[in-house]
Amino acid sequence: MSKKYVAEPFKIKMVEPLRMTTKEERIEKIKEANYNLFALRAEDVYIDLLTDSGTGAMSSNQWAGLMLGDESYSGASSFFKLVESAKDVFGYEYIQPVHQGRAAEKVVMPLLLGEGKVAISNMHFDTTRAHVELTGAKAIDNVVAEALDTTTFAPFKGNMDIEKMEKLISEYGSENVGAIIMTVTNNTAGGQPVSMSNMRDVYAIAQKNNIKVVIDAARYAENAYFIKTREEGYQDKSIKEIVREMFSYGDLLTMSSKKDAIVNMGGLIAIKNDEEMYNDVKARTIPFEGFVSYGGLAGRDLEALAIGLQEGIDYDYLNYRIGQMEYIGSRLEEAGISFQSPVGGHAVFVDAKKVLPHIPYYQYPAQALAVELYIEAGIRSCDIGSYMLDNDPVTGEQREAELELTRLAIPRRVYTQAHLDVVCDAIIAIKERADEIRGYEITWQPKVLRHFTSKLRPVERVEELAK
Ligand SMILES: *Cc1c(COP(=O)(O)O)cnc(C)c1O
Repeated sequence: MSKKYVAEPFKIKMVEPLRMTTKEERIEKIKEANYNLFALRAEDVYIDLLTDSGTGAMSSNQWAGLMLGDESYSGASSFFKLVESAKDVFGYEYIQPVHQGRAAEKVVMPLLLGEGKVAISNMHFDTTRAHVELTGAKAIDNVVAEALDTTTFAPFKGNMDIEKMEKLISEYGSENVGAIIMTVTNNTAGGQPVSMSNMRDVYAIAQKNNIKVVIDAARYAENAYFIKTREEGYQDKSIKEIVREMFSYGDLLTMSSKKDAIVNMGGLIAIKNDEEMYNDVKARTIPFEGFVSYGGLAGRDLEALAIGLQEGIDYDYLNYRIGQMEYIGSRLEEAGISFQSPVGGHAVFVDAKKVLPHIPYYQYPAQALAVELYIEAGIRSCDIGSYMLDNDPVTGEQREAELELTRLAIPRRVYTQAHLDVVCDAIIAIKERADEIRGYEITWQPKVLRHFTSKLRPVERVEELAK
């Protein structure tokens, strides 16, 4: 039996109509998009699970906050509301808004890193890696081994490998490790959480070696929920108490507020107590993001963010949200469909290699499943597999990804149980006709980050070629 769906802790006041399409229309649309889901128009999508970033639904309180937004260039009241809210959630002294997560990285990373330095992370998010490398530093991923095993349950697959981290520090020399970056939850490892004890141990080692710990905090609240429900000793603590303790094990944070702070655009930098660093952050924010009291955002955005930071740590909301992932996971499990287990905090990753075993990696099984989900029910998902991996830069050959995953990222407070059932039913229907589904080949691709813009076509079937 599938897990009981946790009912929404909110009701609906405003609706956004969705356009229904027929299967014939979708076959036409995806062909026009050259079988690249990024090339579809959003209005042709019924359930959009492309990302959970900036796609959440704001609350009536946040919408009311927009009207209170103070648009003064300097010293707006909305800025002070945000500072107060963020200090309350994170317990850090200095708060700097920016326009999104990568802007925070652009401001912060050059203050810690540069030529000859390294950053060690439980796993860098792609923009974080890019900003580390733009400084001339090297980005090293160092997640625990369980992260790569999709089938066995482990409560904290997002953790840093502590032993290896200590080895890396002595190998490179602590003076050359510019930052340790803790990504919570670990997005790249499938939204897997990091335990409190792991954060505590990492921070202790960093302090001993005089290395700053940066918390990449996009999904701070989902991580806290997993600590509460999975880690010994936290069951009776509030989410807020857990969040406070998590951030006590860091020196500063960079954050995309488009995730757990439930706004459509926004980001944050916060610094525990280093005033000198705060001055440096302000000096870089002004040329890149704008004056310090708005940081690339409108006053109304600051207002919505101040409210969203608090709404994101509400237990009933988090229980419902993570419940959505668990509901999808349990329905897939019941139908014998493999996925990365346990489910992450913001997405479910379907194991496309197991759903479409006849499609080889060089014909992109996870992309084939994503295309089929669109054709079947108008669902937009994305490939996290060999299609997303660019060709080897040296040999030009297609690289083989370790896992072929189709990601279903769930926007916050947007879709209902019935929508999730449409998604699960579609995957089950596809599995039943799996052997009819063909792989894809690329007909055009750019040099890097090809999955956003490349063009594809279905490969001819061997039996068709024989005709
Ligand atoms: C989304 C994200 C970022 C980048 O934030 P943007 O708001 O997209 O610029 C950085 N780190 C993590 C872990 C993220 O999920």
